[in-house]
Amino acid sequence: MRRLMERLRSGEVLLVDGALGTMLIARGLAPGRCPESINLERPQWLVEIARAYREAGADVLTANTFGGSPLSLERYGLAEDTEAIQRAAIRATREAAGDEAFIAVSCGPSGRLMKPYGDTEPDEVSDSFRRQLRAIAAAGVDLIAIETMTDLDEAVLAVQAAREVASGVPISATLTFEDTPRGFFTIMGHDIEQAAARLAEAGADIIGSNCGQGIETMLRITAGFQEHSSLPLIVQPNAGLPQTRASEVIYPESPEFMAQRLPALLDAGASIIGGCCGTTPAHTAAFRRVLDDHIR
Ligand SMILES: [Zn+2]
Repeated sequence: MRRLMERLRSGEVLLVDGALGTMLIARGLAPGRCPESINLERPQWLVEIARAYREAGADVLTANTFGGSPLSLERYGLAEDTEAIQRAAIRATREAAGDEAFIAVSCGPSGRLMKPYGDTEPDEVSDSFRRQLRAIAAAGVDLIAIETMTDLDEAVLAVQAAREVASGVPISATLTFEDTPRGFFTIMGHDIEQAAARLAEAGADIIGSNCGQGIETMLRITAGFQEHSSLPLIVQPNAGLPQTRASEVIYPESPEFMAQRLPALLDAGASIIGGCCGTTPAHTAAFRRVLDDHIR
């Protein structure tokens, strides 16, 4: 299998899988439980979910390591299992991927606010990312996906940590933006232009956005990145904003609704496309059909 960056550079569009968290909840992950505890307790769930995404046509399968940094695992008393949690996630994803899909590992926020806004030292956050990413690099993966970052400073620390301990592994970095009357900003107040510049400078190979408010806003965010960057763009929208109905959380954007807007996302410059919260293998299958038509 040709390497991931090589395939992107040749102009191919790659399809990443969809949500993991909401799929785990649908399978019975109890509210308040650590999603990464599944890696050790029920790895078979991960194999089944990844297999469903692969069968739906995903080129890239994501390991369940979003909250796998020791700072994030600490909230559940699982920091000492950091290495075992990464290894188990990658093993399960590899079992589903075989030789047919790339393996990405997810690296989400630490869950801490750094000084001066919070009480956590940036060094503590860097150390935490380094420990997670060192374990990931040792297991061998095709992509480190730093994602759902709302603090650009933290995203930069994660990219730098990946560069340091996992050299040679491609790095993608995506932020979540709020749609404001003044344009798109992260919660911490950074805009797309600042994000594009600083993530590239830190050494990201692929940049973009994930999560957020659905595919319509993601079209405009993608166009913003296209304007300010020449790096390949990765875009993973939520299936809309979650709504609560009779204590059930519903994501409103159907596979068909999102798939219809995929050509516009490609025109806006996206070259890796996937889904975030609320997307399912049905979304991935609908995206696959559009991509196959688009390529033809
Ligand atoms: Zn999301």
